[in-house]
Amino acid sequence: MNTASLKVEKLQHPIKVRTLQVKRVTQLSPSMRRITLTGGDLAGFLSASFDDHVKLMVPDVLATKPNVPVVGPTGLIFAQDQPKPAMRDYTPRRYDPAASELDIDFVLHHAGPATEWAKYAEPGHFVGIAGPRGSFLVPTAYDWHLLIGDETAIPAIGRRLEELPAAAKAIVIIKTETDAGRLEFSSRCQLDIQWVSETDSTGAAMGAFESAMRNMTLPSGEGYAWAAGEYSEIKAVRQYLVEGLGLDKDRIRAASYWRKAAASTHERFE
Ligand SMILES: Cc1cc2nc3c(=O)[nH]c(=O)nc-3n(C[C@H](O)[C@H](O)[C@H](O)COP(=O)(O)OP(=O)(O)OC[C@H]3O[C@@H](n4cnc5c(N)ncnc54)[C@H](O)[C@@H]3O)c2cc1C
Repeated sequence: MNTASLKVEKLQHPIKVRTLQVKRVTQLSPSMRRITLTGGDLAGFLSASFDDHVKLMVPDVLATKPNVPVVGPTGLIFAQDQPKPAMRDYTPRRYDPAASELDIDFVLHHAGPATEWAKYAEPGHFVGIAGPRGSFLVPTAYDWHLLIGDETAIPAIGRRLEELPAAAKAIVIIKTETDAGRLEFSSRCQLDIQWVSETDSTGAAMGAFESAMRNMTLPSGEGYAWAAGEYSEIKAVRQYLVEGLGLDKDRIRAASYWRKAAASTHERFE
C-alpha cells in the first residue's frame, strides 16, 4: 500500500455561526433522539470528517432564539447585555444540502441543558450552531479501522461506517447503557461489531471496553484506531491500545466526549 495515502490531514475552516430551526424529531432508541435542523443559515455548511463537531448553542427558554454570538477578528463575541447560551459539542451526523437538512443525534442522559433541549425539541424550535472550525481527516484507505466508543460516539461511528469502502474492515466496539441503545448501521465495509453494556463492567476504569478489546482480533495490514466517550474510560482504552496492543500513537485518535460529574468537557489524549 502507498503510505502517502494513509497520511492524516488537518483542515481549518472559517468559523460561522448559524441559527437553525428544528424540522423533524425522530426517536432512534429510548436513549437517542435525532433532531433534523434546517433554515436559510444552513447554506454553505461544511463538515469534512466524521470526527467533526459543531458547538451547539441552546436557548434558556425553549422555543425562543438563543443569543448567538457574532464572529469577531479573534473569535466569538457575545452581547454583554444578554445571557450567554449554554454551549455543547455535537457531531454533524448527516448534512444534505439539497434538502437543507442537518441531523444531530442526542444521547438523552440524566441532566444538562443540551439534553433538556433535545428532550423537548419540537418542529419550529430554534438552536444555534458554530463550526465545525476544523476537520481531522483519517483516510478511508487503511486496511482496518478500529472504532471504539460509548453512545455519544455512535453518531461519529455511524457516519464513518457509511463512508468506509467495501474493501475496508471495521472492528467496532460500542458501549450502551442498556441493550435498547443498540442501533442498526448501514455500511458497505466488512463489519465486526461488539456491543457491550454498562452491566458487563467489572467496575474497573475500562471494564466492558477492556474485555471487548481482549476478545477482538485485529486484522493484518495498516490500521487506524479511533475512540471517543467518557474521559476516564477512553483514557484507559488508549492506554491499552498503546501499551497492551503496541499500536503506534500516530495511528490513534482518542478523545474524551464527556466527563463524569463535569459539564461541557472535550479533551484529546496525545
Ligand atoms: C467532539 C464531540 C462530539 C460529540 N458528539 C456528540 C453527539 O453527536 N451526540 C451526543 O449525544 N453527545 C456528543 N458529545 C458529548 C456531549 O457534548 C456531552 O455529553 C455534553 O456534556 C452534553 O451536554 P449536556 O448539556 O447534556 O450535559 P452537561 O451540562 O455537559 O453535563 C451535565 C451532567 O451530565 C453528565 N453527562 C454529560 N454527558 C453525559 C452522557 N453522555 N452520559 C451520562 N452523563 C453525561 C456530566 O458529567 C454532568 O454531570 C460530543 C462531545 C464532543 C467533545
